Amino acid sequence: MKLDSILLPGVDAKRPMVIAGPCSAETEEQVMNAAKLLSADGIKIMRAGIWKPRTKPGGFEGVGSEGLIWLKNVKKETGMYVSTEVATQKHVYEALKHGIDLLWIGARTTANPFAVQEIAEALQGVDIPVLVKNPVNPDLELWIGALERLSNVGLTRLGAIHRGFSSYDKKIYRNLPQWHIPIELKRRYPDLPILCDPSHIGGTRDLIQPLSQQAMDLNYDGLIIESHCNPDEAWSDAAQQVTPSRLKEILSSLVIREEGQSTEDLSILRRQIDELDNQLLELLAKRMRVSREIGTFKKEHNMTVVQTDRYDEILNKRIPQAKGLDVDPEFMRTILEAIHEESVRQQVVILNK
Ligand code: PEP
Ligand code: MN
Repeated sequence: MKLDSILLPGVDAKRPMVIAGPCSAETEEQVMNAAKLLSADGIKIMRAGIWKPRTKPGGFEGVGSEGLIWLKNVKKETGMYVSTEVATQKHVYEALKHGIDLLWIGARTTANPFAVQEIAEALQGVDIPVLVKNPVNPDLELWIGALERLSNVGLTRLGAIHRGFSSYDKKIYRNLPQWHIPIELKRRYPDLPILCDPSHIGGTRDLIQPLSQQAMDLNYDGLIIESHCNPDEAWSDAAQQVTPSRLKEILSSLVIREEGQSTEDLSILRRQIDELDNQLLELLAKRMRVSREIGTFKKEHNMTVVQTDRYDEILNKRIPQAKGLDVDPEFMRTILEAIHEESVRQQVVILNK
């Protein structure tokens, strides 16, 4: 992938690059009011959804092309760059016709290679920045595939937006962050700008600040945050939008740490981590060896692989133990589940030999 790290001239020289604006364009007045306040606070890129992909029909599906004229007026009045989501070729043509400066591909669209390919073909020969949101499902290859389709038609001003992943049981987050996925994306494409979308990850206003800070601590390049002058009355995503003044507070509260100022102390601590990782690996290998021996025993005695009581016993013992050692119980459960899953897999192989 040939990448250009400057998405828009004049805005992304220093972290974080910020895109802000309402989830949806609702009325010309609502769009313009938000833009003026955001622009006065130094926000340089406005967002507003014109076509809204809704889970079920009947919700607010966006104002359509008319809203592009409102964004054009925002550009004229405030000098801001304007951006919106495109999901079809028609959206692309309309957006380009109205001088939209930056496009993004939504999570539901990224998950569909046919749709992404269509969009890519409509963008052939156009020099415009395009940000690709992660697909709704936690599939890094699908995310990269979408970026590659755009790269293959010659686009170089590409970036990624991490907006979290759908999960059946929602707890704290609307969409689980699964930070390791965007971290792996950044490891593979260090020059690809990554923005965090704390609004769609969090789903509630209170989570915007901590998620934004976490993104900055992970060295993300920017943030895309939903901001509405009257969030409670918003026609979509009301619970997660913040007022422009709250956005200003959030942004000024962020601590921006620099990468690569690694001190001598840090390298000592890193050596300790390397050493501990080695020990963990050896222990895991040992545990798997024992587990394979158990597999052989089960085969000889015609037993099933999963003995539920035993698994319960492990969870019931280790999780409180973890708590006592200041290890987060949910984290401990995730680890034990992963280890158990791998043990079962290895024992099944032995049983079927
Ligand atoms: C949005 O940005 O308003 C949106 C619909 O986001 P996503 O594609 O991440 O669900
Ligand atoms: Mn939204």
